[in-house]
Amino acid sequence: MGTPYYRKTALRFECQRCGACCSTWHGNVYVRPEDIPGLASALGLLPEQFIVEYTRRDLLGHRHLILKENGHCIFCEDDACTVNSVKPGACFAWPFWRKVCTTRRGWERTAKRCPGIGKGRKWSPEEIEARLMLSP
Ligand code: SF4
Ligand code: SF4
Repeated sequence: MGTPYYRKTALRFECQRCGACCSTWHGNVYVRPEDIPGLASALGLLPEQFIVEYTRRDLLGHRHLILKENGHCIFCEDDACTVNSVKPGACFAWPFWRKVCTTRRGWERTAKRCPGIGKGRKWSPEEIEARLMLSP
């Protein structure tokens, strides 16, 4: 693999709090095993209960949060996250996911959906790599 895009150019990002990534994208919200205790505790559940009630596995075996009938994340209310302090690592890491920020194509394509991309301060490669550790 060549030099990742975030090392070739300084990437800017500042969340605009539009809520689109938690609602209208209807995507998978990946959950790592280490995300589960905090989420379960915030809901007053045992980890095993949380897994059964709030997560599903996809065909590839990846675990993710269930969605509401309208396709929004189960924890999205009025375009805001109701579990913000314990949200999954994938949510903390966004938009510094491998498939997004390692190539120019991925970054520019995602910028069409996420208005925070290209705004705000520059993120250093070290900061981005710390986020990548949490990303799917
Ligand atoms: S789509 Fe981008 S700007 Fe909008 S809430 Fe999500 S991260 Fe923030
Ligand atoms: S857990 Fe919170 S931040 Fe993550 S997708 Fe759901 S509502 Fe959005």
